[in-house]
Amino acid sequence: MLPAGEGAPAPPPWHALPLPEVEARLGTGPHGLPAAEAASRLARFGPNELEPAPPTPWYITLLRQFRSPVIYILLAAALVTLVLRDVVDAAVIAAVLLLNASIGFTQERRAERSVRALMSLVAPRARVLRDGHEREIEGRDVVPGDLVLLESGMRVPADIRLVQVTGLVIDQSLLTGESEGVARHADPVDEAAPIADRACMAYSGSIVVRGRGRGYAVATGMATELGAIAGSIREQATPQTPLQERMERFARTIGVIVALGALVSFLLGVAVGESPSQMFKVAVALAVAVVPEGLPVVFTVALALGVRRMARRNAIIRKLPAVETLGSTTVIGTDKTGTLTENRMTVRELWTPGGARPLPPPGPGAAPIDLTPPERLLLIAGVMTNEADAFLAGDVYETSGDPTEAALLLAAIAAGMEPAELRAAPVLLDIPFESERQYSTSCRDFEGAPTWFVKGAPERLLERSTAMLTPSGPVPLDREAVLAAAHELASRGHRVLAMAYRALEAPPGPDDHPEGLVFLGLQAMMDPPRPGVREAIAGCRDAGIRVVMITGDHAATASAIAAELGIAPPGAPVLPGPEVDRLSDDDLRERLRETAVVARAAPEHKLRVVQALRADGHVVAVTGDGVNDAPALRAADIGVAMGRSGTDVAREAADMVLADDNFVTIYAAVEEGRVTFENVRKVTFFLVSNGAVLLVVILAAVLFQWPLPMVAAQLLWLNLVTSGIQDLALAFEPGEKDVLKFPPRRRSDGIISPLLWERTVVAGIPRLIGTLALFRWELDHGASLESAQTVALTTMVLFQAFHLGNVRSERQSAFTRSPFLNPFLLIGTIAALSLHVAALYLPPTQFVLRVEPLSFEAWWRMIAVASTILLAVEAHKLWVRRFGPVYRLFVRRAAVSSTA
Ligand code: ADP
Ligand code: MG
Repeated sequence: MLPAGEGAPAPPPWHALPLPEVEARLGTGPHGLPAAEAASRLARFGPNELEPAPPTPWYITLLRQFRSPVIYILLAAALVTLVLRDVVDAAVIAAVLLLNASIGFTQERRAERSVRALMSLVAPRARVLRDGHEREIEGRDVVPGDLVLLESGMRVPADIRLVQVTGLVIDQSLLTGESEGVARHADPVDEAAPIADRACMAYSGSIVVRGRGRGYAVATGMATELGAIAGSIREQATPQTPLQERMERFARTIGVIVALGALVSFLLGVAVGESPSQMFKVAVALAVAVVPEGLPVVFTVALALGVRRMARRNAIIRKLPAVETLGSTTVIGTDKTGTLTENRMTVRELWTPGGARPLPPPGPGAAPIDLTPPERLLLIAGVMTNEADAFLAGDVYETSGDPTEAALLLAAIAAGMEPAELRAAPVLLDIPFESERQYSTSCRDFEGAPTWFVKGAPERLLERSTAMLTPSGPVPLDREAVLAAAHELASRGHRVLAMAYRALEAPPGPDDHPEGLVFLGLQAMMDPPRPGVREAIAGCRDAGIRVVMITGDHAATASAIAAELGIAPPGAPVLPGPEVDRLSDDDLRERLRETAVVARAAPEHKLRVVQALRADGHVVAVTGDGVNDAPALRAADIGVAMGRSGTDVAREAADMVLADDNFVTIYAAVEEGRVTFENVRKVTFFLVSNGAVLLVVILAAVLFQWPLPMVAAQLLWLNLVTSGIQDLALAFEPGEKDVLKFPPRRRSDGIISPLLWERTVVAGIPRLIGTLALFRWELDHGASLESAQTVALTTMVLFQAFHLGNVRSERQSAFTRSPFLNPFLLIGTIAALSLHVAALYLPPTQFVLRVEPLSFEAWWRMIAVASTILLAVEAHKLWVRRFGPVYRLFVRRAAVSSTA
């Protein structure tokens, strides 16, 4: 019989049943389910997941588009216009309103959807036994009856009746609210026990704090206790990023300034004799055209694009603010094993008190090696305390589990041993490896006596040993000789593990730890650096980003790898973890300024290092994989978890997950973070510099007591044609080649830098003079007011098209960037220009916009004039590359504070 589904009678009291009964009812056994049975159960019970809550309904998103001051102004204006019986203008305003809302709406929906899809890429996984083999599967594929394996850092994937535990402690606060971890066992409990007291159960959603365990899934998906409580998982509202908030404040400030500006032009206009109704409409249109109301939407789009580009490069963003923080990262604190290196270990050398011996690679048919008895025991110890698996697939060995442990299995195989046979020896007590302990042990019945086998960091094992084994028998321990050998191996870049053992009189108690051991020797393994890491580290240096290696490994190993990868020069100082404990906060900050390697570091050292670096003003990204890394990941500005080797807990604490565990991916993500920020900056600059110039043009015309160069409908048109299409396309700009050649942006820096404010002026002057001059010229040469206004409007449109070229790079010439780099921008510009030309020649738009067709000569004049903006900004860029921003001549460098 299988567990009941929804609506059926109450499920059996799994916590009270004896194991054979549990197995019988679930139709499973100690080898797990056969794969075919698992598949049919999956079809029957459905996927193991909680029902998601429905996403935000579309109409809410739509209504949100109307929640902006600009829209209120427009609505009011539409009403006033209607009251003034100007139906055409009211219709134009309404059209603008709708278009604005629909652009915002579609973009926001798209961005939301793609961000959500990407975040779900980091779905939880589960380890199960199927057909007697260990498999890693998607958490959603777990079915009732599956034999699930638990280890520290995992989130329990289903409700599990435990079968076997070794020091298993879980945190089930999600269900019971108790925040302390609770120990588990495998014996049935009273049927009436409340959830909190069912010590033979691990409920879905709990976290494995320590130890290992295995058990049968008794309920999955909505049938779990968590499913009963949660009902469905609330869709997490995507929180706003700090920059997004600042951006909205910025847009609001500009809105206020513009509203004031519009009011002033209205009053001035009326004062100099324009009709109040005409001036009112112009003032409103001005406000609408100048306020960058599209900015927040474009910003969301730019962030979403950033998230997507990062995902393509294997960096999966879990928390949106990371996209922008990445761009200002100044320090990357990285693990060594698996991130900088491949985590493909091979034992290269054995060392015993009798001497060193190189080890050949394992392979079938390799001649057995003539080992000394201590060497044999050294390899046996490595196999006995081992959770990995190695099996022959064709003629190569495949492994699963911790690569360090897999290497030990392969070493034994290479020497002609059979790990499976050795591991048949019954286990009396197991203490699995955890980073903070730095050793693991297994007590087994071995050759007639309970025997401790221990492996771990040499220092840890020396503390627990009193003798060492030589070919002629045990002798007193020579600590110095062992340490010297370990150091010599480590300084050649090897990861060094020590082994020790001891035969006991009686089996150990459950809380016993190995003491008084006989030291056996060392196994030295090699883990090649990942390709591309060296280059990425050099790239970080160019980009003004420090790389600090934080590893649990031996100082000499760390130092050798750091030198090989260019993190620190050979012989550079290494900060040992235990010393981190002794240093004061200030001293630690001081030490970290000159140290790029922290060795023998436990997770709490990593946390302190992160805190110290942040206190020193750094923006810190840090990697981690274990349960105990979670605090450091949270404390960092950007917590980076490993997608493959990382635990669920680390992944959930992280801002970003590396799908490939690779350091190079962090570097790529930093690059994309910078590109994203630059794009936001480009869009903002484009919108703000366009708006500012419009305001000034209208104000100037009013001051000169000229007729207005543009009417309300034309201002709205300008707003649509440009901001609707082109600024959005700017968010798609690919990165510039030199984004990683500059120091990180300071987090306090404004969206628009002082340099860009300066450029707003530089780009504004030709536009102001050019537009007004052409307008005047037309009037003075007998053109009608409509025709002169058409020229002014078209000149503005052309100016914007040329200015788009300027905006694409802050430092480099517009001519260095091919128009084909960003097809969106090319198409957007062509579309905007064609639309405008069409509007000039089609009767309906001619009527609504009050425009007229223009002569050939007028076009040439306008194009010539509009191109001056390109020249002006090119000249400015040249100047800035040579001498720096002009404002620096007037403001002392240190006194420059940021704006926006
Ligand atoms: P890192 O991941 O930074 O290389 P670890 O915390 O994994 O550091 O390892 C720290 C030290 O613990 C290693 O140098 C090694 O001596 C020891 N060690 C690593 N893995 C195991 C293991 N599976 N069993 C026993 N000892 C181990
Ligand atoms: Mg490790």
